[in-house]
Amino acid sequence: MALTASTCPDCGGTGWTLRSADGERIARECGCRKEESRRRRFRAAQVPERYRDCSFSDFNDTNLALKKAKAVAQEFAAAYPVVEAGLLFLGPAGNGKTHLAIAILNEITQTKGRHALYANFSDLLMKIQSTFKSDAPETKEDVITPYAEAELLVLDELGATKPSDFARDMLYALLNTRYNHKRITIATSNYMDELTGGAREKLEDRIGYTLRSRLHEMCQTVKIQSDDFREKVKRADFHARY
Ligand SMILES: [Zn+2]
Repeated sequence: MALTASTCPDCGGTGWTLRSADGERIARECGCRKEESRRRRFRAAQVPERYRDCSFSDFNDTNLALKKAKAVAQEFAAAYPVVEAGLLFLGPAGNGKTHLAIAILNEITQTKGRHALYANFSDLLMKIQSTFKSDAPETKEDVITPYAEAELLVLDELGATKPSDFARDMLYALLNTRYNHKRITIATSNYMDELTGGAREKLEDRIGYTLRSRLHEMCQTVKIQSDDFREKVKRADFHARY
């Protein structure tokens, strides 16, 4: 069972320990209190259950592209908050983009004491769209503000759902607020900037030109396309042509 402040033998539940130095009593934050605030920061980040344990150490970097992406992510987490821009992980489904984004989030909330928020793109769109109803309990500002103001935002699966024009305007307003306040955003998408591997749409086709170009200014793009994936595409091309 995890130790909580009320059961802590070191501080007896006060969250502070006292020690004497030069005849003065000095209060220090107890380890249990630090642990509790670490847990609180993690809960506040709203990471879905299945991604909770994602870390760099259990990332499966089986090829060069994944190794490179992991190195960029680790470097980013180590430097945070002294970073110029966020990261945009692009690559085919199921190759660890979300894992790396959450590993960064976990690292900075748990070991650096920073604050972050996770959002799945489609879920966020649904939340935004739910405010369009006349009897909606929340206004669009209610929905958007936490994401616009989060210290670090992880926006997962960008373009998985196509936003309506109105939702797109709201997403733009959200990202623009973050941009103007120099808040860092990490995003992932299964869509690339160009048509590869038989894809029928690019990221820009899914989220629109203005959102894509704003993200371009806010994030460094990290393409995770494995060599064997590219090889397969090349071979498919070859067979198609000859
Ligand atoms: Zn304690």
